[in-house]
Order: sequence, then structure tokens, then C-alpha cells
Amino acid sequence: MRVKALIHLDRFKDNIKFVKAKIGEKRLICVPIKADAYGHGALPIAKISLEAGAFCFGVAAVSEGVELRKGGIKAPILVFSQSNPDDIPEIIEYNLTPFISDIEFASILNDKAMRKNAKLSIHIKIDTGMGRMGCSMEDSLPLTRHITSCSNLKLEGIATHLAISDSSEKKDIDFTKTQINSFKIIIDEIRAEGIDPGIVHAANSGAILQHPESWLDMVRPGLLLYGYKTYEKETSDIDVSIKPVMELRSAVVLIKKIKKGESVSYGRTWIADKNTYIAIVSAGYADGLPRLASNKWQVIINGKTYPLVGRVSMDQCCVNLCTDNIENLPVKRWDEVIIFGAEKQDAAMLAETVGTIPYEITCNINMRVPRVYVG
Ligand SMILES: *Cc1c(COP(=O)(O)O)cnc(C)c1O
Repeated sequence: MRVKALIHLDRFKDNIKFVKAKIGEKRLICVPIKADAYGHGALPIAKISLEAGAFCFGVAAVSEGVELRKGGIKAPILVFSQSNPDDIPEIIEYNLTPFISDIEFASILNDKAMRKNAKLSIHIKIDTGMGRMGCSMEDSLPLTRHITSCSNLKLEGIATHLAISDSSEKKDIDFTKTQINSFKIIIDEIRAEGIDPGIVHAANSGAILQHPESWLDMVRPGLLLYGYKTYEKETSDIDVSIKPVMELRSAVVLIKKIKKGESVSYGRTWIADKNTYIAIVSAGYADGLPRLASNKWQVIINGKTYPLVGRVSMDQCCVNLCTDNIENLPVKRWDEVIIFGAEKQDAAMLAETVGTIPYEITCNINMRVPRVYVG
């Protein structure tokens, strides 16, 4: 296989156990499984999540929810992002649970559910400081009242989303605390009206690690379950024993000599300062190795690291074997190459190298890369 993404399901399960142990058995876990489970494959991740005791799932697109239902997933599926009116027939047919931010969409939904004779579970989304989806704090009570008056909608939960829960800077911690407090006040107001808010939830990965007061009835850990901390600073008082679930592996498909002064790959960005051997590896930016990693990242072959040299191209990259001794090459043709996912060589470090976040690295593993499930 020219390139493959190994998905360690046992590690994913262990990461769920870690979260469970942290938040306590009584709280529910919603596994965000949007973007094909952050690139890990939605259906296998959904199945292992249920085995490990997850309660429900979160998707961004209605089509993602439909895929899970077609794969046999019966658990609740929350649609985190705002759906369009033309998605509503599938929301109803596949019994998905949309987040609602406003009265207009609630009414459209109620209308269509009524015509289909369906009763649709929904969650209300309240914007306590994220500044994206969700109704304003002032509108939350009127929206909740409206929804309880909709005959074909059932209020199953209320959520908010935290903007900066991953930061450990004082001002950011304070901002998150304010978000959580505002949310709790609104929930109290709703309860004071005699309305049952259902499942109350707010915590993403960052909040699970740093803000216990946000755990409430349910948590929504994405990145953490896929094996990455949301912050890099090593805080000794937070034990985070999680492991990256994905490993991107490829192979050496050709070894060749490059003479001093010769260049490697497009743009001639790397020129050999002495004779050397390079390995051509069959993974490129179309597979998910960012082009920005050119001349900056290193890969692992037989337990040793070797630098990428020259531009990463669409389907290939080149690695300097750092020797011109043909008798004693440390790498053979067809040897396996770990692009990322190993210890000290994970997607978070690659992300930092190219100026992004690990979310983007795993999400960008192309469809053409087969996912191979292990554990
Ligand atoms: C993606 C998402 C999450 C998970 O975020 P992580 O940072 O990966 O834990 C939680 N809640 C909502 C609404 C999301 O869209």
C-alpha cells in the first residue's frame, strides 16, 4: 500500500476510559464524529464509542448523520451546525437531533415535523461568548418558551460552546468561567419557569481538562478522544494519559543517489551540499502531509528520524538518508515510513511545524488514503 492511516481503536477506547474516569461514570459522553470522525472514519469510531459507553454523537452535516444511521447506529445524533431548510426531510426521516438557535428555524422545523406526523427531539444552543451559533443570552428564555409551545418538537437538551477553554492563561480561564456561569444562570431561569431543560452540556476537550464546573450532564470531547491535548504547555497537575489514535504510514518506493550540487523536487528548494542517498516516499499533500512541511519535518524509518528534503508534492515526498555509503544504507527499498503518529512525532507536532492545529492535520487525510483499523 502506498500510504495508509492506521487507526488504533484500542487507544481510542482507552482515551474514552480516561475521560470517563475524569468526569465520573454518571455523566454522559457525546462523541463529536463530524468530518468523518476528525478523519478517523465515522462508522468504526461510532461503533467502538458505543462499546466504550458513549451516549450519543455529534455531526456537522446532516449527510454525516444519515451515513451513521445507514451504518446501523441507533444512538442519538446531534447536528451541531445550523442545517438548511432543504436538510429537514432527512433530519426527520433519519431521526437526527438538530441544535436550534432561533425561533424562525424552530418554526420551520415544527411545521415540517407536523406535516410528517413526527415528534423531533432538539437541543437549544445558547451563545454565551463563542460568537457563532446559538441564540443570545437575552433571547434564550423566549426561544425556550417558544420551543415548549411547538407541538412537534421535544426539548431534549440545552448546550453552549466554549471559545477558549483550551487556554491556561488567566484572562482566558476567567472568560471561560464567565461563559459557564452565564450558562448556569440561564439554565436556572429556565428551570424556574417550570421547564425541564433536559441534558445540559457545554464542555469540549479543553474544558474537560481545565474546567470541571463545565462538565454538567454531558461532555463533548473531540480532540481528546482522538489522542491530543488541547494545549501544549505541560501543566504537571493535569495528568493526561491519552494516546494519538491515528498514524500515517507510507513506504520507501525508490532509493537514489543525489550528487553534491544537485537539487530535489519542484522549485529546487533543496540542494545537496554533499553526495547523499535519498528515499522517495509515496505520500504527498494530497494524502494529508502538508506542503508547508517541506524541508521542515522529519519522518521515522526503522526507528530513526530522517529529514524531508525538497518540496512535498501532491503524491510524493523525499527524505535524506544522510549517507553516501551504498554498502551501509540504513534504509531499504519498501521499508515502512511513519509520517506522523508515533511518540514524539505526532500530529500535534506536525501541526505546530506548519502553523496549524492537530484537528486540521487529521481531518485533511484524503479519502484515497485507506484507513486500516487495528486493536
Ligand atoms: C467539534 C465540537 C466539539 C469538540 O471539540 P474538541 O475541541 O475537539 O473537543 C464540541 N462541541 C461542538 C459543538 C463542536 O462543534
